[in-house]
Parts: sequence; C-alpha cells; structure tokens
Amino acid sequence: VCPTAALTEAYHVDKVWEALNDPDKHVIVQTAPAIRVALGELFGMEAGTIVTGKMVTALKRMGFNAVFDTDFGADLTIMEEASELIYRIQNNKTLPILTSCCPAWVKFIEHQFPELLDVPSTCKSPHIMFGTIAKTYYAEKNGLDPDNIVVVSIMPCIAKKAEAKRPELTKDEHNNVDIVVTTRELGAMIKEAGIEFENLPESEYDRPLGETTGASVIFGTTGGVIEAAIRTAYEWMTGEELENVEFQQLRGMDGFKRATVKVGDKELKIGIASGLGNARELLEEIREGKGTYDAIEIMACPGGCIAGGGQPYHHGNYEIVKKRQEAIYQEDRNKKLRKSHENPEILELYKTYLGEPFGETAHRLLHTHFEERERI
Ligand code: SF4
Repeated sequence: VCPTAALTEAYHVDKVWEALNDPDKHVIVQTAPAIRVALGELFGMEAGTIVTGKMVTALKRMGFNAVFDTDFGADLTIMEEASELIYRIQNNKTLPILTSCCPAWVKFIEHQFPELLDVPSTCKSPHIMFGTIAKTYYAEKNGLDPDNIVVVSIMPCIAKKAEAKRPELTKDEHNNVDIVVTTRELGAMIKEAGIEFENLPESEYDRPLGETTGASVIFGTTGGVIEAAIRTAYEWMTGEELENVEFQQLRGMDGFKRATVKVGDKELKIGIASGLGNARELLEEIREGKGTYDAIEIMACPGGCIAGGGQPYHHGNYEIVKKRQEAIYQEDRNKKLRKSHENPEILELYKTYLGEPFGETAHRLLHTHFEERERI
C-alpha cells in the first residue's frame, strides 16, 4: 500500500482505455525507471528481469500515439537540481538541499516539518516535468493542440496519483499529467488486451524525448537521485571529467546512510533516508541543527521506488527488492551515456526552448512550491 497510509488504490485503467478510444485525443505514455525491472514479475518472470523493450512494444500495441520514458524527465530534473545545489552553495543559501521527486515524503514534510519548507529543491518530479514538456515543447514541435494531448504516467507509486492532482501543479492552463496508473494496473491492461507479454519482441522508445542516460535509470532506487545529481554537479563544479561514475558509498539497502563525497577541494556531506521513520529521524537532526548536510535524498518507500506501493507485491521479501535494485544498476551500466548533462536531446531542449538550466523559462515550467498543510 501507499507508504503515507493516507491513500487507497484508485483504479484508473478505464480512463486510459477511454482516452485511447477517443479519435480526437493524442495519447502519450511515459514509464518510470522502476517499472522495467518489476513488470515481468506479473507474467511469471524472475524478479529483476529487465523488460524495457517488451514493455514499449506492449504499449505501442495498446494504441498509444507515442511511448516515452520518464527517465527523460529524470535527466531534466538533474539539470535543474544540480544547478540549484550549485546556486545554493555559491550564494550561501539554505543547505542542505533535499531532493523533491517523491510526493509521499513531500506531503510528509508539508504536514510534519513545515518549518523546513525552504529545504526541499523546488524541482517538480520527473513525470510532472515530462508532462509539462509534452504539453508545451512537444505540442509546439508537432503542431498539436495541448488540450487534445492526454499524458498517461505509468508509475510504481500510488502517491503519484494524488501528486498529479496537486493544485499548484494543475493551476496552469494545461493539467500536466492527466492519468496515473501503477505497474500493477499496467499488467492488468496488458492482460485485458490479450497481449502475450513473454513472447513480445523488443521496441525502442519514441523520439524526441526518448534518449536517456544511466543517471536517470538509477532514480528507481534509494540513493540513485543523489548519485545522479552528483555525477553532474561534480563536472560542473570542478570542470573536470568524472571517470568513475559509481558512488558505492551512496548505494545499498540501508534505510539511513551518511556519506561524504569529494568534489574538487570541497567535501559534500550527504544524507540518504528511505522509509518515513528514517526520514523523520533525518529531518529531526536537521531541525535540531545536529546534522550538517549539503544534500539529502528521501524516499518514502524502504528501498525507493523499486519497492513502491504500485509495484508487484513483494510481501516483505527484500530479496526480490534487491534483485530489482541490481537490475537498475545493470541498466545504468548498459547505457552509453551515464550523466544527465550529456543527453543530447536534453541539451537540444535547453538550446531551442528552455534557455539556461535554472533560468527564467526553466523556472516557470519545471519548478513548483510547497505549502504548510494541516497536521494530521
Ligand atoms: Fe512513490 Fe517512489 Fe516515493 Fe515510494 S519512494 S512513494 S514509489 S515516489
């Protein structure tokens, strides 16, 4: 179930079929990093089997007009989040910075630690960033009316359904993400469509917005978002090439990790928590001024999105979750590009549309704000 324990699972499969059957709609779908290492379990495959190509084929056969990867939104998130980290360091602004891509912990801090609301990065989460780019840049590039575009997110997460409805993310003229379905719902749709998943050939994501890096894949596991951000921040801060991109001190299944990463002559102090009990401990350290961190990652689900509330049930068997994690790191190693700022389609997007990372247009489209909410 959802780690916030505040949400029950709503079933949105019918809405997706309805959109796919509407000839006036251009329906695009994006898949989160953690889906590709767990979806196969719903079809009898071993935990950790990487099914990216089969999943793309299944989505194309179901009738989506275009199939994209939320990893593109994750690369975009890193461009903004690494810029924000460097901006805060160089301008003596609030540190630590907290990654903001998990909506369950964002809600947790709004309710439980409102005095720390200047700490999270203002970046929207990757799938919401992707939805915004789909209804602006992609719509313009393809001559589409954004009102006729339906963005479907396949997520490992039930909290993402509530996130897509947050008023500050839907106040602009276009609702950025229209429908969120979970990995389990996708599995049900594939079965409903009569697709024999195990026997599918592999396909590639559509372009543009389909090129992604290893940095974006590791968003799917605890420690991955901060590692991806450091791969980029390191090169931007030092002007030197980062040869070994794997930061072992940020990895593993421990619920609370403290680590130091050397970036030139600076030592970045990192905190990583997964599971809301560990998040509370970390946030209390910060509130009481005990922990001196430069950057923090929090994921509400123990282990991160690979063990999300919308994934195939693991029934507390963390051997399954570890296999998914190993597969995520394998996907990273399989990628030619492993740093977000080297993604050519991301660079093209900034050059032709967004301008500078963390600049005015990027800020307007890719950032949000958080609010104190009533304690529950
Ligand atoms: Fe959702 Fe991932 Fe956060 Fe779990 S860790 S609540 S799956 S975003």
